[in-house]
Amino acid sequence: MKTHRIYYDDAYEREFSARVVHCELLPPDVNAGITSQALGLVLDRTAFYPTSGGQPNDLGKIGDASVLDVRDDGDEIMHVVDRRPGSPDVLGCIHWPRRFDHMQQHSGQHLLSAMFQERYGRPTVSFHLGTDFCTIDLRGPEPSEEILEGAERAANKIIFEDRPVTVRYGTAEDLAELGVRKEVDRKGILRAIEIEGADLQPCGGTHVKSTAQIGTLLVRRRTKMRQDWRVEFVCGSRAERAARQDFLRLRATAEKLSCAPEELVAAAERVVSERDSNFKRTRALLERLAEIEAAHAVREAAPNSGGLRVVDRVFEEDEPEFLGHFATQVAKTEKSVALLATSASGHVFFAQHPVSGKDMSALLKQVLAKIGGKGGGNRDFARGRLDAGAQAAKALALAREWLSGDSRGT
Ligand SMILES: [Zn+2]
Repeated sequence: MKTHRIYYDDAYEREFSARVVHCELLPPDVNAGITSQALGLVLDRTAFYPTSGGQPNDLGKIGDASVLDVRDDGDEIMHVVDRRPGSPDVLGCIHWPRRFDHMQQHSGQHLLSAMFQERYGRPTVSFHLGTDFCTIDLRGPEPSEEILEGAERAANKIIFEDRPVTVRYGTAEDLAELGVRKEVDRKGILRAIEIEGADLQPCGGTHVKSTAQIGTLLVRRRTKMRQDWRVEFVCGSRAERAARQDFLRLRATAEKLSCAPEELVAAAERVVSERDSNFKRTRALLERLAEIEAAHAVREAAPNSGGLRVVDRVFEEDEPEFLGHFATQVAKTEKSVALLATSASGHVFFAQHPVSGKDMSALLKQVLAKIGGKGGGNRDFARGRLDAGAQAAKALALAREWLSGDSRGT
């Protein structure tokens, strides 16, 4: 039996009486969020909107049963409920804030799509009404900021003019004659939604009765989506919430940067450029410090029996960049070798002056094979990382020992 869809002609009816014509047990459906057993209920008439055309289903009550999902089964509408209603004559009540929000978003979509199409020749190929924001996918080249702003302003102008939104019925030929935006080739009588003087398009969804009820429309981000451009937007209460959230975020960020919200972009640019120059300055200072400390360390190191000055040091602080500079600086002095490590993260640096005559890469390989870790390099410079930073001192002791031996580290 065909369910009479009350919302086709009156999207504002939120309470209705109906008769149960069919009731069946349904298995759990995890994808639809239904984890326990539920019942499928078909009524002779309903105001509940089933998920379709980009618009999510309504929620609410049928008698004392909660509606968990509403599905479009062709002629029939299936209400998924959590219990059997007490009597075959039931009173249905849809959760109005959710439905009205959907009506605002969906009507806004018709209007926005019409503006993109008419003014900029960008047809809408799909629509999605999400929990937080809505999207339409536009075919064609990337819509510029001017296009996004232009479509938003044109839509809001029509919202402020409070134009009637009405339902029209007719065959595909009738609608084509009336200038329908999206032509359809379906047979029979079709339903179309008209926004006076702005848009006519076939649709089975629920809409507000005049454009002012859309409230306002805000276009947000656009992102590339395969061959199309996805445009995010919000209407009505969602627009109000989005604007408030934006303001709170701007204010919190402005407080962090000690400026007025209007000065945020300039303040952020300043902070980023300060950060970049501080980064450069810190790097230069680290290099300079490494140079001084390395020179001092080389002077302090007494030459070993082979005439090599070996600087070995375990650093507690975790600055591998500093160690790299330090090792490089030590290796600038003839017959010098640097054996450095950090105890926190286990970074290891071995470096030598080219005439020192050893092989840093081979030495590191030997140490890592014994202690555990990864790394590599060339004859004069090698770096690696121990599996355990706590082994840093042991690693350096081994390296030093092998370095003084005749057959190792050469
Ligand atoms: Zn619609």
